[in-house]
Amino acid sequence: MKKLLRIDLSNKKFQYEDVPVAYANLGGRGLTSKIVSEEVPPRTDALGMENKLVFAPGILAATPAPNNSRLSVGGKSPLTGTIKEANSGGAAAQMLAKLSIQGVIFEGVAPALTMVKITKDGVTFIPAEGFKGMGNYGLIDKLKSDHGNTISIISIGPGGEKLLKTASVSVTSPDFKIRMASRGGMGAVMGSKNLKAVIVDESGAPGIEVADAAKLKEAAGDLTKGILSHPLMEGLKALGTPLLVAMINGAGALPTKNYSSGQFEGAQTISGEYMFETQSKRPNSQATHRCMAGCVISCSNIYTDEQGQEIVSGLEYETLGLVGSNCMISNLDDVARINRLCNDLGLDTMEIGAAIAVAMEGGILSWGDGKAAYALIEEAGKGTEKGTMIGSGCLFTGKKLGVKRIPQVKGQSLAAYDPRVLKGTGVTYATCPMGADHTAGNALPSPANPTYNPTASTGQAPVSGFLQWYFAAIDSLGICLFASLPLLDMPDLMKHLIACAAAATGQAADENYLMNLGVSVLKSEKKFNDAAGFTTKDDRLPEFFVKEQLPPSGLVFDVSEEEVDTALKF
Ligand code: SF4
Repeated sequence: MKKLLRIDLSNKKFQYEDVPVAYANLGGRGLTSKIVSEEVPPRTDALGMENKLVFAPGILAATPAPNNSRLSVGGKSPLTGTIKEANSGGAAAQMLAKLSIQGVIFEGVAPALTMVKITKDGVTFIPAEGFKGMGNYGLIDKLKSDHGNTISIISIGPGGEKLLKTASVSVTSPDFKIRMASRGGMGAVMGSKNLKAVIVDESGAPGIEVADAAKLKEAAGDLTKGILSHPLMEGLKALGTPLLVAMINGAGALPTKNYSSGQFEGAQTISGEYMFETQSKRPNSQATHRCMAGCVISCSNIYTDEQGQEIVSGLEYETLGLVGSNCMISNLDDVARINRLCNDLGLDTMEIGAAIAVAMEGGILSWGDGKAAYALIEEAGKGTEKGTMIGSGCLFTGKKLGVKRIPQVKGQSLAAYDPRVLKGTGVTYATCPMGADHTAGNALPSPANPTYNPTASTGQAPVSGFLQWYFAAIDSLGICLFASLPLLDMPDLMKHLIACAAAATGQAADENYLMNLGVSVLKSEKKFNDAAGFTTKDDRLPEFFVKEQLPPSGLVFDVSEEEVDTALKF
């Protein structure tokens, strides 16, 4: 029987609780958002005593369903002031599920820097003062050598300890690479609780219980077969998400020079094709890598230097777009080294990339200067004034430097898709309850859906609304986004995913299951934000996207505010 694990950091106490009816059959984002909306006062200080930090494996974690084990990290965001869920691949979600834990709720503040170890026998509190200021790479090596290979580590770097609003939460993959729940400053929430790391040890775990194992296996097999038959999979398996660089640059939507152009003349040297070529010449590089057991795509990678020393794993599209083209940094090694530095400090590469570009526009460093950008991010770890500015995100940086063009919504930077070309994505940026977020509903053109025109100024809100409930459901199931994309082009596959959920939970699930789940998640998130004081006035893109024509297309974001406001009217 699954339980909720509630950990009181102030008093070093923990208890296992029966899952209340309100949280039954929920997981991932659905569970974190429900708990936060029920248990956190909406107007509380996100870095104060009353905020909670919630970890939740998805509904399908550790089942035979493909790519099933994203870990959701939820709380009130210090970056946006909204409700927040950020999720990550890695091994922790599967381990928690095998330990029969539906969610972990951290409350209060530890009196001194602490680690928590979760095993089949309960929770132990371990002093972590000796790890103060330690980067994620060193910490992971140390904890692995102290606690063995049967663990997963969820941790923060100096960024989280310093309460920087761009701080992320690191989650280790089965081979102890770093994956990140990056967005919204959830690492700062963890830091505000004096929680340096959570070690999950699956040794002797009872394993998962499902309602109908045979049906689950059959549905998971059909789902996997369907996903792998989609044409996108070949590209993703070969080049991973960096394949998007050439595609989005070709569409004129690659953020360049702080969103002042949609095409970057240096795009070729940060493209997936170039990365693949580079990796094929470097020892120990891997063009494919799995961030979790059960992944059938392996979109990730290991990027090494010329000597074969790992720089980072994995180097992804959003980092290439925001640290690369958006800052006009065309040297792939520079982007990779900045990615490693952000991983070590525990910072969101997207928010940091956006902040650096704003700082470049503000004149404190030159466009394209990767070495200067690296040095400035290093300062974030040291806590200098400039470093703290960058570590506080693009809105803070822009205000501090008097920059007018700040690409953010509700305080969170946009992702690497310009909303003047991809207008459905623009509606998602504007209306997503968690600030500008690409995973919440990215409306990309697809050959399987030739009638969808991403540049049209009408008809974008229904597309965004549909994608937002769909991905809210996917984030609740814990399925990786890339495994969920084929279902959008091949809706017939949805019945297999729904059958997986029904067989895992024993809950009856009809064809409306995903919609009902996704809509209920969005409603609980909106309820929290409404009570926190957010209104439709906050659901707007910055004015420059509406007024400034984007070269080379000349497009502006011209979806009317009236239409934008209908996106999440369910
Ligand atoms: S497809 Fe990529 S992100 Fe998804 S589970 Fe596999 S490696 Fe992780």
